[in-house]
Amino acid sequence: MLRADTIILGGGLSGLTLLKELSGDAILITKNVGGLIQNYVTPNGFSFDLGGHVYNSSNPDIEEVMNVIPNTLHSHRKSWWIRSGTFNESEKYTFPVQSSMRSLVTDTPQDTSWSPNLEDYSIKIFGEAFTEEFFRPFNERVWTTALSDLDVDWVKGRVQHPREFSDKNWGLNSSFYYAPGSEIVKYFLKDFSNNIINGTVLSVNLGDKTVRYQDDLSGVIYYVKYNRLIDTTGRFLEGESILRRNYIAYFGVGVEGSPAYDFHWCYGPFDQSVHRVTLLSSYHPGLAPSGTHSYLMEIPFSSEYRSPWIISVLLRAMKTKPNSSILKFAASAALRTAGFPIEKEKVIDVWAKVSLGYPVPMVGSRKVVAQIKEKLFNQNVFLAGRWGAHGYWNWEHIVTDARVVRRLLNDYSQDNLNHYLTSDFYYKV
Ligand SMILES: Cc1cc2nc3c(=O)[nH]c(=O)nc-3n(C[C@H](O)[C@H](O)[C@H](O)COP(=O)(O)OP(=O)(O)OC[C@H]3O[C@@H](n4cnc5c(N)ncnc54)[C@H](O)[C@@H]3O)c2cc1C
Repeated sequence: MLRADTIILGGGLSGLTLLKELSGDAILITKNVGGLIQNYVTPNGFSFDLGGHVYNSSNPDIEEVMNVIPNTLHSHRKSWWIRSGTFNESEKYTFPVQSSMRSLVTDTPQDTSWSPNLEDYSIKIFGEAFTEEFFRPFNERVWTTALSDLDVDWVKGRVQHPREFSDKNWGLNSSFYYAPGSEIVKYFLKDFSNNIINGTVLSVNLGDKTVRYQDDLSGVIYYVKYNRLIDTTGRFLEGESILRRNYIAYFGVGVEGSPAYDFHWCYGPFDQSVHRVTLLSSYHPGLAPSGTHSYLMEIPFSSEYRSPWIISVLLRAMKTKPNSSILKFAASAALRTAGFPIEKEKVIDVWAKVSLGYPVPMVGSRKVVAQIKEKLFNQNVFLAGRWGAHGYWNWEHIVTDARVVRRLLNDYSQDNLNHYLTSDFYYKV
């Protein structure tokens, strides 16, 4: 019988980090191990990332993890574009934000506390034209939310204020590492695989302090008493209307031959629904068989935002066989709208999936999360990770977030509690 003081719900990067941080003194219940850091490998040998592909190197929290898997680690200097126009006359721009802001003059202070929302921020700092040409269409497509409803916090560390301009390699991920998710999962599992229960958590009862979950193998339902608990499922956040999330339709596409261009990722024209195309095979040689290359496309959508036509084709196509010709048609059509004219006949493999995409950084959402955290803290329940704490976080933030929780579990102080409640660490990274 497994015994532990702590039960962790969800085995994504945050749950796994916490399990390691607690030196295995916890039970982790999860539907799958790795969550968004998993890769899906097709029968023809293409490997597609479900979520994270790149890791920044500046944070010691994440460097520590990365240093243990050096043989599979590839380091990169970012290469990305934004496309404008439709395919035929499409042009690509490199680093439009970082390299073109030099000449802007603004009196607006760097501190963003004056700015209630991203629309206001963009107009005051970058002006109307830039807002309409870039900031609004870019953000509204990815977040599926009006610019005026988005919090400025999410651009901190991502978009440079003209006054702080240093060089074009500025930014969270101007250079980064890539390691296959399966290697990271192995690192976390090495010592703690016996602490993991594969199952689906059905409910958490705060009254009698039990977790109800269903075993994956036999379908038996169990109840476990909890002492302390982390939830990464987002369940507690349900019903808080300000905490919106969107969905992402992914297409992983394996293609014959070499790519026409070399890049890491490219944002599609703003009048099209494909947000981003990643040339996945440029990250690591193991991701596509030799003589081929691969793309990963992301199409955000939500019930509040009009769903692009491609989503209904995709959802229909997914009901048919994987790799069906309708899926190949949809994938090559979507690639074309994003500016990549890949012939359907050259497509070897298509992997498609619809999943929860991003927690949307609505104005005021941090405050709501802090209130929920505080309420649950008093019940000995802790929230962490992308869905638990409702944060659009990269790997380094997720790892740090789990560490903040561990610190609070082991060492209660008002300071640690404040960090935990406000996710303050994020803005200091
Ligand atoms: C499209 C996309 C691209 C991204 N790109 C990058 C990138 O390039 N670089 C980067 O640093 N980050 C990137 N990220 C973000 C990064 O992948 C995530 O922030 C991080 O992996 C989230 O970890 P997590 O543990 O918080 O959540 P998750 O990985 O979502 O883990 C949650 C876990 O809980 C389990 N679970 C859920 N419900 C239940 C239940 N009821 N019972 C049991 N288990 C349950 C899930 O199966 C899963 O294992 C990207 C994310 C997305 C979506």
